[in-house]
Amino acid sequence: MSFSFDLLATKNKMRVGVMHTPHGDVPTPIFMPVGTQGSVKGLDAADVANTQSPIMLANTYHLYLRPGEEVVHTLGGIQRMMNWDKPVLTDSGGFQVFSLGEQLKGKNSKIKIPNSNTLTPEPSTLNPTVISDSGVEFTSHLDGSKHFFTPTKAIEIQQKIGADIMMTFDECTPDAADKNIAARAIERTYQWAIECKQQWERGDRLTAQGKYQALFGIIQGAMHEDLRKESTQQIVSLGFDGIAVGGETIGYNMPGTGEVMEWIESLLPVNKPRYAMGLGKNPQDIVDAVTLGFDMFDCVAPTRLARNGALYNGKLDKRTLKVESEFNHCRLGIGNSRFALDQTPIQDDCDCYTCVSGYTRAYLHHLFKTKELSYYRLASIHNVRFMIRLCDQLRSQILTSPSHS
Ligand SMILES: [Zn+2]
Repeated sequence: MSFSFDLLATKNKMRVGVMHTPHGDVPTPIFMPVGTQGSVKGLDAADVANTQSPIMLANTYHLYLRPGEEVVHTLGGIQRMMNWDKPVLTDSGGFQVFSLGEQLKGKNSKIKIPNSNTLTPEPSTLNPTVISDSGVEFTSHLDGSKHFFTPTKAIEIQQKIGADIMMTFDECTPDAADKNIAARAIERTYQWAIECKQQWERGDRLTAQGKYQALFGIIQGAMHEDLRKESTQQIVSLGFDGIAVGGETIGYNMPGTGEVMEWIESLLPVNKPRYAMGLGKNPQDIVDAVTLGFDMFDCVAPTRLARNGALYNGKLDKRTLKVESEFNHCRLGIGNSRFALDQTPIQDDCDCYTCVSGYTRAYLHHLFKTKELSYYRLASIHNVRFMIRLCDQLRSQILTSPSHS
């Protein structure tokens, strides 16, 4: 079984489709929860399945450092290791590798040193990331050890991890970068995409476990329209299974994300999935990106916000395509004392395990205040299901009144 994408219906730029992968089908539009270390924080595989999430994402950089791709391979690949028999997507590790670069650290930037529960060297003691045409030398955020990623190596690691979809190794430039730097970065991203494709083909497009593995290319170009368009044409020309758009802006600065999407949308093939990397902090972000013609999204925010007490609450108005909520950014702050005696669920029409099982806002408020471990699970289940259900609603909205062409 290989990988394919069927576009089932469109409405204006909105699209409904389905990706077929060796581990099952993924309807689009879709939000993908992120299992950074091979686990969606707070949830086990059955919990994630109960959110009706058809796919999850894992981070190559983190799995490369711990437990190591050889261990993942020995354990039978990422699905076997995680006890998750559905599709998985791995990023290339590029974003995390570049996150460590001194040159990318800016104020208000989403590019930051990764979180870790272990001893983390102070940023000032880290050696800066060194980028060359052949690859990137970086320092582990865990122990300060030095590593070198080439495009070929990034694919080799992902082949051993064995996800259904892997990503090319790209150079992620910050928006503040000089245009010459951004131009050089898209050229490098293009050359690296070619090298990634060559390694993909050397492995017969199979995982180390012998299953077909899709490869998606990534568009860069910061906030320069001409560079974004050039990068799009370059990446599309290589014939990947899907096309992703990356960069500091995407998912972080939504007006900027919208601009980038409008620049490139008409240059994207209609018959391939379109993935906006790192997008999905607010429910409205997903709706807006779908409206602009994108299909796939991932973000750590829904589970991170849940752990921090922000529970999604809102309803999609199918006419205006706005997620309406009495709470700012559709986030109910469960730590607020106004919920201490509130015996309603987080959201009255939510069908997640937490809401239908009878867990009240009052009890969740108490669990949050007392930092009980069960809080993190119940809250994360709700926020992930909220995003999956929002995608379900968008799909049905497009399917009930599609465009006729
Ligand atoms: Zn719920």
